[in-house]
Amino acid sequence: MVNILAERLLKAKPFDKNLYRKGGSKLYIETHGCQMNVADSEVVISILNKAGFGVIEDYKSADLILINTCSIRDNAEQRIFNRLNEFKHLKKRNKFLLIGIIGCMAERLKSKLVEREKLVDLVIGPDAYRSLPKLVQQAESGQKAINVLLSREETYAEISPVRINKNGVSAFVSIMRGCDNMCSYCVVPFTRGRERSRDPQTILREVQELIDAGYKEVTLLGQNVDKYNWQNGMVSFANLLEMTAKLDPNLRVRFSTSYPQDMTDEVLHVIAKYENICKYIHLPVQSGSSAVLKRMKRGYTREWYMNRIRAIRTIVPDCAISSDFIAGFCAETEAEHKETLSIMDWVGFDYSYMFKYSERPDTYAAKRMPDDVPEEIKSRRLKEIIDLQNTLSLRSNQKDVGKIFKVLVEGKSKKSEDRLFGRNSQNKVIVFDKKDSKIGDYIMVKVNECSSATLLGEIVEI
Ligand code: SAM
Ligand code: SF4
Repeated sequence: MVNILAERLLKAKPFDKNLYRKGGSKLYIETHGCQMNVADSEVVISILNKAGFGVIEDYKSADLILINTCSIRDNAEQRIFNRLNEFKHLKKRNKFLLIGIIGCMAERLKSKLVEREKLVDLVIGPDAYRSLPKLVQQAESGQKAINVLLSREETYAEISPVRINKNGVSAFVSIMRGCDNMCSYCVVPFTRGRERSRDPQTILREVQELIDAGYKEVTLLGQNVDKYNWQNGMVSFANLLEMTAKLDPNLRVRFSTSYPQDMTDEVLHVIAKYENICKYIHLPVQSGSSAVLKRMKRGYTREWYMNRIRAIRTIVPDCAISSDFIAGFCAETEAEHKETLSIMDWVGFDYSYMFKYSERPDTYAAKRMPDDVPEEIKSRRLKEIIDLQNTLSLRSNQKDVGKIFKVLVEGKSKKSEDRLFGRNSQNKVIVFDKKDSKIGDYIMVKVNECSSATLLGEIVEI
């Protein structure tokens, strides 16, 4: 699940020539997968900076290559194996080069990774990053270095991440780790361990540091942010959101991911109360069929989900809503698939991330339910979901034509030097002629045209 912002962050790689370790240790880090991985890579860079590593953009001159990996679907893992193949020739050229696999694939495959891929020197799971400097030393001495211990406490709470995104405008802030939901198809509880919340003081301190450094937007991250819970209910997600919003009215606050079973009206009232909490909720439904949701062990029904949407529409009327969908889950019938299409139409999602079901080893579904929807049917159903989402996104964007939005300027348009892009509170990307505006400004933009993916507008004075 990589959204537009994360895609941009993944492409940006930092370079700081002042941070090389004596002897010239250069780190190249590549991040695959979700926003959580981007946030983790920033923690890893911080830990390795302290051990004297500087980050470089060009992997060809690196001393240490780390690939922060994703296991969510089989194709994500295949991409990493292909990437490793591309690094093979470097190892032949430089026998001191170290290659490490970190993150979810490291956790899932453990020592099998070094057995399968001889060029891998380090395998480090998401809760073991503090041991990186020691493990790098071990690998430098010629031994394979592996640490995939999961923890019930680790949140890297006091580590100040070194930001990958150098635009200095938006940053991810991890508020919790792991997941206890155990959806039947999902590998995350196995690769990221038990759910735990980070000390709110350290979260607020990190956000304040970002504000002081000129950042204008933070995204609070967790697999299920609604389960954020510090010391038996002393601080809930609603409390944390409110405290973050109050730090600075000029700071935009986003969050991801919300969970239909756990999202409370209290959270919605906090979103409605603060102008700087963005009016956008990513609330993955996965399927519109209660029977499929039961097989997925999602813990809610179609009706429950629809009621949560009604609550959003009532309490935060101008809120955009996006979702995730899995096409062709075990035993999904044509009628069940049609229920997914009908809930999409009923909600009118502004945006969605859509996937074919991919069986993941060791999950409940892999052990108990055959992956029995034929590939061509999965593909056709996914295409129907994507086609419908494109129609819904276009319809949603067309409603914005003629409206004026407050936009945070985030970067240059890819297509034209004279244009910039930013997002409105609803997370929609708007491209406009730059005039006197610059990255980091808040400006008012009137939307003149749209496609299903983007709004085009002009800066207006208010
Ligand atoms: N925690 C979030 C939630 O529950 O909505 C999302 C976490 S997951 C990293 C992102 C998305 O990947 C999920 O919402 C789901 O749609 C998709 N996903 C997870 N496991 C999958 C699988 N085995 N096959 C296909 N898609 C999968
Ligand atoms: Fe996976 Fe479900 Fe947890 Fe999301 S909530 S990470 S889909 S187990």
